[in-house]
Order: sequence, then C-alpha cells, then structure tokens
Amino acid sequence: MPATLIDGKAIAAKVRAEVKEKVAEFTARTGVRPGLTVVLVGEDPASRVYVRNKGKASEEAGFLSRQIDLPASTAERELLELVARLNADASVHGILVQLPLPGPIDDKKVIEAIAPEKDVDGFHPVNAGRLFTGGTSFLPCTPYGILTMLDHEKVELKGRHAVVVGRSNIVGKPVAMLLLSRHATVTICHSRTQDLPSVVRSGDVVVAAVGKAGMIRGSWIKPGAVVIDVGMNRNAEGKLCGDVAFEEARETAGRITPVPGGVGPMTIAMLLQNTYEAALRQVSGR
Ligand code: NDP
Repeated sequence: MPATLIDGKAIAAKVRAEVKEKVAEFTARTGVRPGLTVVLVGEDPASRVYVRNKGKASEEAGFLSRQIDLPASTAERELLELVARLNADASVHGILVQLPLPGPIDDKKVIEAIAPEKDVDGFHPVNAGRLFTGGTSFLPCTPYGILTMLDHEKVELKGRHAVVVGRSNIVGKPVAMLLLSRHATVTICHSRTQDLPSVVRSGDVVVAAVGKAGMIRGSWIKPGAVVIDVGMNRNAEGKLCGDVAFEEARETAGRITPVPGGVGPMTIAMLLQNTYEAALRQVSGR
C-alpha cells in the first residue's frame, strides 16, 4: 500500500488560523498589533518571492507587517544601523533579515546584531544555544514546522531511531536537537557519512535536508518509516522537487511529505507563531 501523505498545506493552514485567532484576542486585549519587519537586501528573485509570501501571510494573520527594501550596494554598517533602530523600536516585535545577504555583508554579523527576543527566525546564537541547553528560545522556523507536523500526525518519537540527512545550522542540526528533546535516538548524516543507504534504512523517521533532487532512494527507506522531505530543488524540467525520490519512497514509507505542499508551507506558519510569541513576551514582559 502506498504511503499516506502528510499534508503540510493543511497543517500550516490550521496553525495560521490558530495564530490569527490568538492575534485578534491579543490585540483586543492589549491594543497592540504584533509587528514583523522583514528586511530584503538586493534583488535575488527567490528571496523576493519568499519575502512577499511572508509579508502576505503576516498581514493575513493581523500583524503590523513591514518590508524594508535595500539596494544590493548597501554597506554592512548601514544594515547594522538599521537593525539597531529596529531593535529599539517598540512597535517591531519580530525582525527577519532575509538570507543570503549579497556581496561582502557578513550574514553572521547581521544575525548576531538582532536582539535575541526579536529574532523570530531563531538563528541568533543565543536562541540556538538555548535550543541546545533546553531553555526557552525561538525555534528556527523549518525545524519547528517539522516537529509541529510530526506532532499533528501523532508520530511516536520516544525511543525511535530518527535519521537526519544534512547538518546545516538552519535545518539539520536544530531538527536533530528537537528530535532528541523528544527522546528519539538521533543519527545525523552528512557528505562524509559512510554507507548512507544503510544508515537511512535503519531510520523509523527520516528527515532529508540535503539540497539534492531525488538523492534519497526508495530502496533506502525502511518499510513503514515516516519520511520528511525538506529539500526544495528544481529538477531537469524546472519542476520543484524534494531530496527524496518521491514515487519510489512512497511505495515503502508509512507516511511521507510531498514537495511542494509538505514542509514548505509549515516554515511560514511557524514564523507567524514565533512573531506572535515575541509580541506576547515583549508586551507582557515575560
Ligand atoms: P545546506 O547546503 O546548508 O546543507 C546541506 C547538507 O547536506 C550539508 O550538511 C551537507 O553535508 C549534506 N550533504 C550534501 N551532500 C550530501 C550527500 N551526498 N550525502 C549526505 N549528505 C550530504 O542546505 P540547507 O540545510 O540550508 O537546506 C537543505 C535543503 O532544504 C535545500 O534543498 C533547501 O532548499 C531546503 N530548505 C527548505 C526549506 C523549506 O522551508 N522547505 C527551508 C530551508 C531549506 P556537509 O555538511 O558534509 O557538507
């Protein structure tokens, strides 16, 4: 029997509706609209689309949504000054600087300049550190979205073997930490992992975050496994596709996320959740 699809679009719509409701209640009670400011530097077409989608979603949720466009020629110092102004602006509860930044601007320096309590992307080292040490932090949106999907699907993680393929700071490592916090036994794979197929085959839950179209083959999937495909790649025909060979893997997996319509929509939903949470904490002084 082919795998059941995990419908990220539907789960994301539910999260977004819940956030919208919480925002309406919060605004009615406090008179404050959660404010999200997204900064876009340069003309990268993919970044433009992401930023537009984030702006639209945050308006729909009832946020005070602002987008600041800066030319690719912007100096690092100017961007850091802007971040400092946004940090000091009480109407801005969440700041997101769209990555990657062009030219000589140091992404890391800019991320570290954002006040951790406004870092709704969850990339600041303070938030990353809290994820590792168990404190309250903003979780990076994609890993947070993956965990929310698994919870929604009531996937048992305790004692199960979770295999994460990819070790980036924005997906692989944080998702591994979240799975660990739920008592999964976690293996993190990367480009130097030996015999990747057999490691993946031992996973009850597989998270693929590599960035290589169809690399994870169906024969690598343990029968009945839950497969979460984070990849967003273009195949030879220019079609959006994941890191998992979907048609093959769905023959073996128990449940699987499609691309598109899986993890992608969850990322924006969790950005909204983080921004609401940021406003709540800042206004209530928590
Ligand atoms: P990175 O390029 O930062 O990391 C890729 C990881 O994959 C690295 O750890 C790398 O290993 C590993 N890798 C590369 N080749 C192999 C291989 N042959 N075998 C095993 N591991 C390998 O990517 P990201 O984490 O930023 O993104 C991963 C994918 O997820 C991309 O397709 C991206 O577009 C997508 N994405 C989707 C999002 C969404 O909202 N749906 C959000 C963010 C990302 P090493 O460290 O050894 O180099």
